[in-house]
Amino acid sequence: MAKINTAEVRKINKKSILRYLIKNTEATKPQIAVDLKLSVPTVGAIVDELVEEGLLENVGMQASSGGRKAAIYRVIRDSVHACGIEISQSHVIFVIVNTCGEIVASERISKPFADGKEYIDSIEEYREDFVQRSGVDPQTITGIGISVQGLINADQTCFSSHMLDNQRKIRIYPLTDRYPYIYLNDGTASCMSECYANQEERDFVYLMLSRTVGGAIVQNGVIWQGTDSFAGEFGHMRIHPGDDKVCYCGGKGHAWCYLSSDRLEEVCDGPYWEFFDKLKEGDTACREFFSTFLDDLALLVYNIRMMNNSDIVLGGYLGRHLGPYLPELEQRIQKQDHLYTESTTRILTGQYDLEAAGVGAARYFIEQYIQSL
Ligand SMILES: [Zn+2]
Repeated sequence: MAKINTAEVRKINKKSILRYLIKNTEATKPQIAVDLKLSVPTVGAIVDELVEEGLLENVGMQASSGGRKAAIYRVIRDSVHACGIEISQSHVIFVIVNTCGEIVASERISKPFADGKEYIDSIEEYREDFVQRSGVDPQTITGIGISVQGLINADQTCFSSHMLDNQRKIRIYPLTDRYPYIYLNDGTASCMSECYANQEERDFVYLMLSRTVGGAIVQNGVIWQGTDSFAGEFGHMRIHPGDDKVCYCGGKGHAWCYLSSDRLEEVCDGPYWEFFDKLKEGDTACREFFSTFLDDLALLVYNIRMMNNSDIVLGGYLGRHLGPYLPELEQRIQKQDHLYTESTTRILTGQYDLEAAGVGAARYFIEQYIQSL
């Protein structure tokens, strides 16, 4: 193993201390030292440096029944921000997140997608006004993550998508020269919202269930993209060979045909959240459809689990709505999966629904900022 020098160790410790305070809200230097297994002088010097850089603040002294009182520190939440933009066929979601990755502002507008510079210019114009309305200091914005429903070329010049009926390859136009920006696949962006949420380097699979169905595979907190960057495109896994339902990619029997939020909206003739309202009220058509939906989801989850023996997070628009139905889903998986009873892996729901892709895209730049410390 390659040796790392003192300066590199200090950088690693600095990131760990900032991540620790993002996760734990506030702590004293001795507490941080104990929890991160570092010496108090090391923690002391780094915390002082983070205070000087405007990332941490002293918020008082610890109550003590005797001995020396220690100062309490916490992250200055509005020291750094990033913007996220989720572009889809019919609407655009704008979010701003702070140093801790929390949403400080979000707006959703109806806007049909169009290929062209004018469309992107109007998005950027709206974003600037949105930042101004939010009261966030534009100087604190570190970058803009843009999520699109499609596979993005490695050189960020175009993406393949179903957002336009008559066109598969869509050109990427420059957004702005004021901030760094990046285009991200919606499944990858949504997964990032979960990846960075707990400040932990864990293994999991993110299954995005939105208008599109996709996801990402995370190992040690890092998204594994695969050779051609389409690892985790679970929406295109064939779960019903022989069925004639056609996916937007042209394939038949793909998971997207059965698990897209569009299917729920077709059944309830309204937005997907109304589907879950009707389901709770006992609507017959919704209940019948949902039984098939859970069987199809169980099959997909079973297949994913066989490839990746790790927790599976159900995210995207539908993820959080599925929380009450997890026991039922697990029962259906058990019917297919004889290894299930011995597995310690869990099925969880995502922490964000509507804003998942926008939050993840924005958090990309917060993470870049932490990495650059
Ligand atoms: Zn497909």
